[in-house]
Amino acid sequence: MAESKKKSVPPSALHKLPAGTSESQGPLTDLLSPEEMEKLSALQIVDLIVGKLPPRHPSILDMVYLRERVAGLEEMNYQAREAIEKLDAIVEKLRSPAFRVGTFLMPIESDKAHVCISGTDYVCRIDPQIPLSSLQVGQRVLCNEAFAVVQGLGFDRNGPIVRVDELLSDGRLRIGQETGLMPLVLQRSSLLAKEKLRPGLEVRLDVNQRVALEVVGVGKRVERSLETVTELPWGAIGGQDEAVQAIRDTIELPILHRDLFKRFEHSVPKGFLLYGPPGCGKTLLGKATAYNLRQQIKTHTGVDRPEFFLHVKGPEILNMWVGESERQVRDLFAQCRERASEGALAFLFVDEAESILGTRRAGRYHSILSTLVPMFCTEMDGLEPLQNVVVILASNRADLIDPAILRPGRIDRKIKVRRPDQAGSQRIYEIYLRESLPLAEPKTDLAAAVAQAQFARTPENQFLEVVYRSGKKDILHRGDLASGAIIAAIVERAKSLAIKRSIETKMPTTLTREDLLKAFESEYAENDLFPSTDLTEDWLKLTDFDPDNVVKLGPVKPRKNESLGAGIV
Ligand code: ADP
Repeated sequence: MAESKKKSVPPSALHKLPAGTSESQGPLTDLLSPEEMEKLSALQIVDLIVGKLPPRHPSILDMVYLRERVAGLEEMNYQAREAIEKLDAIVEKLRSPAFRVGTFLMPIESDKAHVCISGTDYVCRIDPQIPLSSLQVGQRVLCNEAFAVVQGLGFDRNGPIVRVDELLSDGRLRIGQETGLMPLVLQRSSLLAKEKLRPGLEVRLDVNQRVALEVVGVGKRVERSLETVTELPWGAIGGQDEAVQAIRDTIELPILHRDLFKRFEHSVPKGFLLYGPPGCGKTLLGKATAYNLRQQIKTHTGVDRPEFFLHVKGPEILNMWVGESERQVRDLFAQCRERASEGALAFLFVDEAESILGTRRAGRYHSILSTLVPMFCTEMDGLEPLQNVVVILASNRADLIDPAILRPGRIDRKIKVRRPDQAGSQRIYEIYLRESLPLAEPKTDLAAAVAQAQFARTPENQFLEVVYRSGKKDILHRGDLASGAIIAAIVERAKSLAIKRSIETKMPTTLTREDLLKAFESEYAENDLFPSTDLTEDWLKLTDFDPDNVVKLGPVKPRKNESLGAGIV
C-alpha cells in the first residue's frame, strides 16, 4: 500500500539522532534500544541510514534504489497479509454451523419468541436489531447456533394441505387425519387471522404443521353417495342372469355362509369388476348388489344393516394438484371404513375405473396413475375380505385396468355385463312396461313385438359397418347395440307419445304397440348414447371389438333410419 512507502521514522527514533550527523556516528543499534529497533520497518531503517550519510555521499543514490526495492517488498507483504485475512474470514464463515429455520409461533416479552424448529419448541432470544413487530405468526425465522432469531424469512411456500374439519370458538382449526396424522388443532397464521374460514376448506400448513398459512382450495370431497339405495330386487334387472348369478356367488354366498367358507379355507374377494358396454346395467347391478345383500342379511340374521353406497366416477378423482387424487382415494376408503365401523354395509362403486386404475396409458395423467394404482392396492389390502367394505369397479374397458388391481385377494372376480339379446331385451321391456300402466295389450305381447322389431335382421335395422384388419366387412344391426338404457328410453318415449295423443284427442288413451315401434325408430335415430361423429374410436367404445382387429367402425350410410325416424317425436 502507498502508505507504507510514506511511513516516516518515528519521532522517538529521530530525536536520538543529532542534526547534521555524519558518517563518524556509530551504528543505529548503538543509538536505539533493541525494542525501538524492533518497532521500525525496513523502510524506516533505510531512511535513518540515509539520514546519517553526509550530503552528496556516493552511497545516497544506492540507498534511494534500495529504498524503492524495500518499499516494493513491503507493499507486496501488506497485500498478501490482507488477502490471507480475507480468506481466513471466508473459511471461518464456511466452517460455522448452519442456521436453523423455524416457524415463528408467538412473541414472548419484547425480546423472546416461541419458535418451532424441526418439530421441537424453543423459546428463542430475538436479535435486538429485529423489531418484534416485524415478525408475523407462521412466518419462517432464521436461528443461529444459540437458537437466537437473527433474521425474518417470510412465509414458507410449501407444506402439506389438509382439510378443515371444525372451527373452534377461539378461531383455531381442527383438522382431520387424512395426512396420516392424528387429528390436530392448529392456529392461524397472521395471513389468515381475519379470514372467514369454514369446515371443508383446504389449507396449507407450515412445514412444522403447527400453523395454517393459506387457503388453497374448496376441498371438494368426492362424495356421490346414495345413503339409501332404492328398492331394487334382482328381478328389476333384465337380461343379465349370468352376471347376477356371478355377483351372488361372489358376494352373497361368502357373507351369508361365512363359517362354511372359513372351514373350506376358500378365498373370498374384496370386490368385483363389472365390465361391458355402456348403458347395460353395471351401475344398476352395483346398486342391486347393495340392496339385495341388505335384504338377505336381514332374512338370514334378523339384523338390518343399512347400506352405504358411495358412487364415484373415476375421472372425477383425477385432479391436477399433485397428491390431491391420492388424497381423494384415501378419503373414499376412509368414508367407507367409517360407515362400516358404524355397522353399515359399505360399498365403494368406482365407475369408469380404467381412468384412474388403468395401465398402458401415457400422457397427461401418467404420473398420477403411477401413484394411484399402488395406493389403491394398499387401501384394498387393508380391508378385511367382505367384513366391512365391498369395492365394485365398473369399466367399458376391462383390458385397460392395471393387473395389480385384479390380483387374488383384491378384485379377482371379473364379471361380464353383456348387451341384452332378444330374450333379454324383451324381459327388460316387460320390466318397464309395468302392469300398473295403461297398456293397450298384455305387457308380454307389447314387449315381444318391440323386441322382435328391434332384433329383426332387416335392411332398416342395419346400423353399423365394421371393416376388419383382414379386409372382411360386417354389418351390425340395431339389435346388436341394444342396451337396458336404450330400452328404458324407448319406453319413456312411447309413454310421452301416448300422453300427447291423450292431450290432443282429449280422450283417455293407452300405450300401444305403434307407440313403442315409433319410439324405437326415433330412439335409434336421435339417441345421445350413440356418438354424433363418424369417428371409429368413439364407436368402438360401444362394442366389444378388439380395437387392434378393426380398421373402421361407423354408422351405415345413408342411415336408413333417418327417413323413418325424423320428426316422429
Ligand atoms: P352402465 O353403468 O352399464 O353404463 P347403467 O346401469 O347406468 O349402465 O344403466 C343406465 C340405465 O339403463 C339404468 O338406470 C336403467 O334404467 C337402464 N338399464 C340398463 N341396463 C338394464 C337392465 N339390464 N335392466 C333394466 N334396466 C336397465
